[in-house]
Amino acid sequence: MPPSRLKRLGYDDLAILEREDDLGGTWHVNRYPGLAVDIPSSTYSYSFEPNPHWSRLFAPGSELKAYAVHVADKYDLRRHMRFDTVVQGARWDEESSTWVVTLEGGETVAGRFLLTATGFLSQPKAARHRGHRGLRGHGRAHHPLGRRHRVWRASGSASSAPARRPCRLIPEAGQGGRPPDRLPAHTDLRQPEDGRQGARRRARRVREGAADPEGHPPGRYVDPRAPHGRRSAALPRPPGGQPDRQAGVRGAPQAPGEGPRAAGEASWPDYDFGCKRPTFSNTYFPTFTKDHVDLETTTISHVDANGIVTEDGRRADLDVLVLATGFNLWDTNFPAIEIIGREGRDLGKWWRETRFSAYEGIAVPKFPNFFSLNSPYSYSGLSYFTTIETQMAHMDRLLKAMNKKGSSIFEVTEEANTEFLDRMTGLLGNSVFNAGQCSTARSYYFNQHGEAVLLRPTSTLSAHREAVSFPLEDYAFSNA
Ligand SMILES: Cc1cc2nc3c(=O)[nH]c(=O)nc-3n(C[C@H](O)[C@H](O)[C@H](O)COP(=O)(O)OP(=O)(O)OC[C@H]3O[C@@H](n4cnc5c(N)ncnc54)[C@H](O)[C@@H]3O)c2cc1C
Repeated sequence: MPPSRLKRLGYDDLAILEREDDLGGTWHVNRYPGLAVDIPSSTYSYSFEPNPHWSRLFAPGSELKAYAVHVADKYDLRRHMRFDTVVQGARWDEESSTWVVTLEGGETVAGRFLLTATGFLSQPKAARHRGHRGLRGHGRAHHPLGRRHRVWRASGSASSAPARRPCRLIPEAGQGGRPPDRLPAHTDLRQPEDGRQGARRRARRVREGAADPEGHPPGRYVDPRAPHGRRSAALPRPPGGQPDRQAGVRGAPQAPGEGPRAAGEASWPDYDFGCKRPTFSNTYFPTFTKDHVDLETTTISHVDANGIVTEDGRRADLDVLVLATGFNLWDTNFPAIEIIGREGRDLGKWWRETRFSAYEGIAVPKFPNFFSLNSPYSYSGLSYFTTIETQMAHMDRLLKAMNKKGSSIFEVTEEANTEFLDRMTGLLGNSVFNAGQCSTARSYYFNQHGEAVLLRPTSTLSAHREAVSFPLEDYAFSNA
């Protein structure tokens, strides 16, 4: 959505390159049954484009996709989009002061600015089992499964809206048993008609300019530190003692022993609440009590044309193997493509050889005219939309300042970047990530350096305040 903000600033010559065959990102690619947002839908939308049509408190994936289509059409973004276009890399060309983007097939596209919006959860984690591509009919499927299918679901548990329709067999990740996250009680509701009417009124007021389009509805600016950011700060902690690890699940109706004992024993988390993004479900644990469901925690050895073989030599023939093995954030993402900046600095290598850093979660030194939306310390809320709107505000301030100065190039200074990294590192000191027990969580928050650098350890409000007031001296401005 930053394109709409860029258009408002007068940048209309845009190329939006997308490897899929349509827009929607996460909500176009993921279409499994039961897919839904895991935070209230009213917060999962742009403040300037409220959606009065959510049918549920936690809207289904199809509505999120429809919302993305609506926004793209309304802001006339489709004409800038090129689908089925895989970006391989981008290089800053010092001579022409442009970014040269290379596409699969060799074509190049040049532009003054580069903005990567390749998503955190967009590069699938390849299954590690031998042979899974050999299964008959291997491919990507979006269709509901029939009741008679014999299904194995090789999975973790951090997916949003954990599968509501039980699979026939649900083995754990098959990679040594990754425990699922805690699943406190979940209340999803149909949006009552009067609620939708209120939302319609608000949307109308925004449309007519009566409401501040940037005014966030209540509940938008929640402090992400409370539920899963700096959790240990929010947990009851006796002086000098450890945080209460069970505080996040107290009252959860589905603790092991209250039904799904066997599955519970095998899968009850042994790490602190907050190490992973919590998922909410009333049906996850009860699924394991169903007659036609088994939990298998033995590692999958390999897959052949007819089914799977576990490491202890047992085999199971099956019709469908669902690889719900998640996403790879830290090996093939961050960044998702090769990006070479000034003096040949390779972003991916630099992050891995030094530390992952990005000033205010959006800019990197030696990468002029570059906005990296999926950056360390960028995620500043429970809803991705608070993150993206904070980044839009940052871009707005920066580009306006650059234009006012009559400059054409911005670049964040090394000093500002280092100061920001030091500040974030300090704030993380008392978080659950550093002070808690996360070593067994296999959480995607942690990178290969063992640092949890995905979430910005400040409130969303303070992130937004900084986006509209950061010192402009933190950037160097120049001309081509
Ligand atoms: C199942 C699921 C549920 C989620 N639920 C929530 C939720 O409840 N709340 C929440 O805040 N967040 C949730 N998320 C996170 C979600 O990804 C973000 O909220 C949001 O959709 C990110 O938007 P994005 O446009 O930045 O990235 P994405 O939606 O991931 O889009 C990135 C796009 O970049 C494209 N791309 C990547 N690499 C290339 C390349 N090399 N060349 C060309 N195109 C490329 C991809 O095809 C994709 O379309 C969920 C994610 C998943 C997977």
